[in-house]
Amino acid sequence: MKKLPFERPIIKKLNVGISNKFGLKTELEPITHIDNVSVSELIKEHGSPLFVISESTVRRTVQEARRAFETRYPKVQFAWSYKTNYLDAVCRIFHQEGSWAEVVSRYEYDKALSNGVEGAKIIFNGPDKTAEDLKIASENNSLIHIDHFDELYTLIEIAGKLKKKPRVAIRVNMDTGVHPQWDRFGFNFENGEAWEAITKIMSSGKLEFVGLHTHIGTFMLTASAYEKAAGKLASLAVDFKKTYGKNVSYIDMGGGFASHNTLKGAYLTGKDTAPSFDEYAEAITNALTNSKLDPDNMPLLILETGRALIDEAGYLLGTVIANKKLSDGRHSTIVNFGVNILFTAFWYEHQINPEKEYSQSSETTVMYGPLCMNIDQIRDSIQLPPLKKDDNIIVSSVGAYNMTQWMQFITLRPRVVLIDVSGGVHVIRKNETNKDITALESVPGHLAKI
Ligand SMILES: *Cc1c(COP(=O)(O)O)cnc(C)c1O
Repeated sequence: MKKLPFERPIIKKLNVGISNKFGLKTELEPITHIDNVSVSELIKEHGSPLFVISESTVRRTVQEARRAFETRYPKVQFAWSYKTNYLDAVCRIFHQEGSWAEVVSRYEYDKALSNGVEGAKIIFNGPDKTAEDLKIASENNSLIHIDHFDELYTLIEIAGKLKKKPRVAIRVNMDTGVHPQWDRFGFNFENGEAWEAITKIMSSGKLEFVGLHTHIGTFMLTASAYEKAAGKLASLAVDFKKTYGKNVSYIDMGGGFASHNTLKGAYLTGKDTAPSFDEYAEAITNALTNSKLDPDNMPLLILETGRALIDEAGYLLGTVIANKKLSDGRHSTIVNFGVNILFTAFWYEHQINPEKEYSQSSETTVMYGPLCMNIDQIRDSIQLPPLKKDDNIIVSSVGAYNMTQWMQFITLRPRVVLIDVSGGVHVIRKNETNKDITALESVPGHLAKI
């Protein structure tokens, strides 16, 4: 028998939708309305792409989170994480629901003040606070969460010149069994640095030490990490009481609860894997109540939950620009929004639905945005009905981090509307115009003429 000639083997990725135990991840169900407001009417009136925020979803979610904690622990306070979504209208919904403000920069600090938040209800986090920022925050009686020793020394120096003692807490980082460990912020628990910071604060005599803070990471899929973290902060509070005879007023567990989005490459959907508010609350409050903290003087429990409170309330409406066959035979769809306004497309497989009803046939497609850049890919493989040019689509769960991290790049950023609890639609951020962008520029005289 003649030997067959050698042929180079080829590894080829199968381009059908990846199935999980529920079958193919198809997203064929149309979404025609958001909170009873027609998607096509919204696009007609406000253009495409368009960000939409559901006020009733925001309120329902924050109430649900509060209930989970308040039924398990006597004193609970939420503080809205501004960087997650700092559109003023969004912040004010949270403030109306009783949330304080959690800010990580002077820009956000000033925003919280202008939203009417009392200085004493602003938590100032982050590694970048100038001497001027620290002075203003101290005068306003805000809660200053110290991130590093240089900040501590600056604050001690300023405090000497102030009439009242600044109220401070330290940010603590620690091993919670989740890796990589977030150790670049705050003082380390295990190596004794956190305790050293407390000692320095107390011996300065110039600061009022009121709390302990941690933010262990983001999109944490294990509630048990919070149990460890809360236990470690509680032990610091107990040592503080033993050494200085005073109770800390609060323990702040930061943010990091997962939203219902699906992480890239995940086998199960985010809805199936994210712990519920009840599970997070159970882990944290168990650790506190099982600690050696004095049961008659339990500290206030602060939560700075960001993405889990706003992601599901946000939608991005968009429109198909074209369909195209790729050279390897795959089908692709180009839509009118890019990763510059949907930053979270880098780590989530966003749920994307058509607006109209189609027959049950579907195809696997690569979804690209309109930017002239190869990285502008919204989904690398998604089952969708055969969408045509000008058909509308709806991206769900985009409320967190997109409207703060978005970039103005080759196009202008779109409008944002809020649907209020009675179905009224309000523009809460206008779409940008050329004038808005060029207002910040100037052309030197010698370049006036071309
Ligand atoms: C970003 C941030 C939060 C909110 O985090 P989420 O993961 O969105 O919940 C809370 N606290 C601090 C200090 C942060 O930096």
